[in-house]
Amino acid sequence: MRMKRGLILLLSFILSMSSVFAYDLIWPKQKETVTDKDYALFVGRARNAESIVINDKRIYTAPNGAFAHTVKLKEGNNRIVVRSNYSAQVYRFRKENKPVIDEPLKEFEPKCAIVKTDETPLRSTPESYGMNRISHLFKDTTVLVNGSKGNFYRVFLSKDKTAWIEKKDVCLTDKTDSNPAQFITMDSKKFKNASIQTVKFSKNLPFTIEDLDNEIIFRIYNPELSESSVYTVNIPKPEKYTYTTALKNGEYTFKVSSLPVEIENSVIVIDAGHGGSEKGAVGCLGDEEKNLNLRIALELAEMLRLLGANVVMTRECDGNMSLGERVELAKHNHANIFISIHHNSIGNTEFKLYKHRGTSVYYFNKNAKNLASCIEKSVSKTAGTRKDGVRQASFFVIRPTEYTGVLVETAYMINPFDSVLYTSEDFAKNAAAGIANGILEFLNK
Ligand SMILES: [Zn+2]
Repeated sequence: MRMKRGLILLLSFILSMSSVFAYDLIWPKQKETVTDKDYALFVGRARNAESIVINDKRIYTAPNGAFAHTVKLKEGNNRIVVRSNYSAQVYRFRKENKPVIDEPLKEFEPKCAIVKTDETPLRSTPESYGMNRISHLFKDTTVLVNGSKGNFYRVFLSKDKTAWIEKKDVCLTDKTDSNPAQFITMDSKKFKNASIQTVKFSKNLPFTIEDLDNEIIFRIYNPELSESSVYTVNIPKPEKYTYTTALKNGEYTFKVSSLPVEIENSVIVIDAGHGGSEKGAVGCLGDEEKNLNLRIALELAEMLRLLGANVVMTRECDGNMSLGERVELAKHNHANIFISIHHNSIGNTEFKLYKHRGTSVYYFNKNAKNLASCIEKSVSKTAGTRKDGVRQASFFVIRPTEYTGVLVETAYMINPFDSVLYTSEDFAKNAAAGIANGILEFLNK
């Protein structure tokens, strides 16, 4: 009996020894996966100079053990073997392709449709993603629709312009209105830091916005009256600007404002991405993105306050906050600048060690492109990250035009090189200093 217990103790000791030396996998979470993705992602940490081989390919391992690798999946069953000095594990992926349905366009006689809520996207293609937003329509706007494709109606704006709106966002009426909208009045006012244009119609009509090099063009369409009835308002814009659009009882108010020059007069919102149950991306060593984002956000807040800025934080601790609440908070505080702090992931693509690495900064509106490029340059300088680029993308928190908004992807959570950087003691401070310098450079330029 005693011998047997001794043997069990010895066995469990050997087992625990081997687990000390075995790698930890963050992804995949289980041995068998059904997926429609093109790549299987393997991310983890090797122990004590353990070398990792995935399907006979030796994988780079950083000094801290971090490794990441993708395997291209073929349709059907895929068997992937992860080998280390101490064990070999088999992972099975079943790839099932999602059917692609391309529904045909059905055309019909023009009908009126009423927009149900504010912020309804009007799009250039019948897809609910990507950079295809033309404007955001207000509740109770009347649009003419004359076709349907999938989940979208085609909106007739004028004989030269059509757009798309999601079916769920409008109420269709049976016929065209017998009472087409009439133009009533137009006015323009110029102030030191803003210019305001108003245009009034007898009902709410659809509009588009074009942000050009020297001016912003607002267009209001009245296709019920005639196929070529378009009202155009050109507003010259300063170098650093924000703009707002409001609609009440048929009256549009377009306002273009210049940004404060001094940081002391600026309201800067710092948004630490994710939080609470939303962890964001997870790194090779198990670090959670939400925590890294918050660390940088807190350092940045302190630095900007020392510089005299009015700082508002969307979260100062680890809690849940919706994207809508973050934007509302910024609008409520009349934010001039909005900085959303994140760390990158790679999505459904092949992981490349030297490409998916470093700092990228995203903007949606043209007014934030310069800020994005100032921050990308200065963060890579202070935090020692690779310059990964300045890109345009449709992220919720940077879409409003009321402020100059950018989203900083400080580093890649799963890149082994980056994991060495973002786990180092001074990284948050250095990244924050880079963002602060970028803001200062943008304001002073
Ligand atoms: Zn994120």
